[in-house]
Amino acid sequence: MKFSALDLAEPLERAINDCGYKKLTPVQEKTLSKARRGQDLLVHAQTGTGKTAAFALPILQQMLDVPKETLSASPRALILTPTRELCEQLANAFSRYAQFTHLKVTALFGGVKLGGQTSKLKMGTDILIATPGRLLEHMALNSVTLANAEFVVLDEADRMLDMGFITDVNNIIKHTAEKRQTLMYSATSSPAVNEFCHKILNNHQEIRVSEINTTAETVNHVMYPVEESRKIDLFKKLLDEQNWFQVLVFTSTKEQADRLLGALKQHKIDAAVCHSDKSQGSRRRALADFKSAKLQVLIATEVAARGLDIQGLDYVVNYNLPYLPEDYVHRIGRTGRAGNKGNAISFVSREEERTINRIETLIGTSIQRVVKKGFEVSDRQSLLKSISSNRRPSKTNKASSTRITGNKIRKKKKS
Ligand code: AMP
Repeated sequence: MKFSALDLAEPLERAINDCGYKKLTPVQEKTLSKARRGQDLLVHAQTGTGKTAAFALPILQQMLDVPKETLSASPRALILTPTRELCEQLANAFSRYAQFTHLKVTALFGGVKLGGQTSKLKMGTDILIATPGRLLEHMALNSVTLANAEFVVLDEADRMLDMGFITDVNNIIKHTAEKRQTLMYSATSSPAVNEFCHKILNNHQEIRVSEINTTAETVNHVMYPVEESRKIDLFKKLLDEQNWFQVLVFTSTKEQADRLLGALKQHKIDAAVCHSDKSQGSRRRALADFKSAKLQVLIATEVAARGLDIQGLDYVVNYNLPYLPEDYVHRIGRTGRAGNKGNAISFVSREEERTINRIETLIGTSIQRVVKKGFEVSDRQSLLKSISSNRRPSKTNKASSTRITGNKIRKKKKS
């Protein structure tokens, strides 16, 4: 479907042209008209599917349909999102979609001083995009009121729940206009998300844009079995051999991220880290340098990288597997976006084997296992072979198979 069929206001059509969008993406096709009619929605859509425009355009359209004066520190639309990066990204997208209207967008997120944000709020705000913690700080200081917030979006609601924002979000919602439209977006589906949405949405419709909890079909999934201690070497080897340009690497901890950065720098590889110990300025710089292709590798922890829209990313590497299989879906949402091909590469140590099985169950596809010569994991291959039924174990694998099933022997070998 073409955007012209939607009959949007001229300033919005102009902005869509300016963005170069020709046709609606599936999430836009399924939700845009419903949202425009004021319907509450729970939308299950992956990251990178064009969901920002799917909620921004109908909200902007409704705001233009019933024009109201821009007020100081009292927005008509509130978009809550879990991380600073996502908040900035949404604000940029909203500002682009609203660029030919009179509507003003303000972003509130932590890590920067409150004062500048307060002044911006005072100067007039129609659309407020905020992380829950920083918004509550401003609310406590009376620098913003939500009494006129008649459009509310909960972006990445599943992640907000995972990050423990449920009480904060509930407290914020209580202060919004009683008669409001609420749109909730969640990449994954869970009983917690359902319960939350029943509390917050009113007579809502649930829309699934793709298979539940799956990843984009354009993503090629590969895993390398490797000892934890050899992951850095394997990463450097693959980076060299396979000419990966622009890789986003996820680690589980800040320490792992810093260690990997040190190792890459020793090898004169342009890389940076993005994690919560880094200042907002340094995170923003790292992201900007990565986006402008000054950096080959961006290393990030889960929370810091949440929702990053990095265009045309070919490779996402899971240096460690995420603890929750759902987070695999979030992580690799950075590749294979908007129809492009992408590669999700996971390094899997023995300890992470169970997780990879749970991930495969969740995404409903088996992940291709590649054993890299020189990085074989002793004891491990036989286990992998027994998982993948279509390969016969070799002699060495038979021997190791005996070892891997005997816990005692394995422990003895380790000590
Ligand atoms: P989002 O899921 O909102 O983060 O969007 C992912 C990417 O898709 C962003 O770079 C958008 O600019 C882009 N995008 C959104 N809608 C469209 C569209 N209809 N056609 C082409 N690209 C789009």
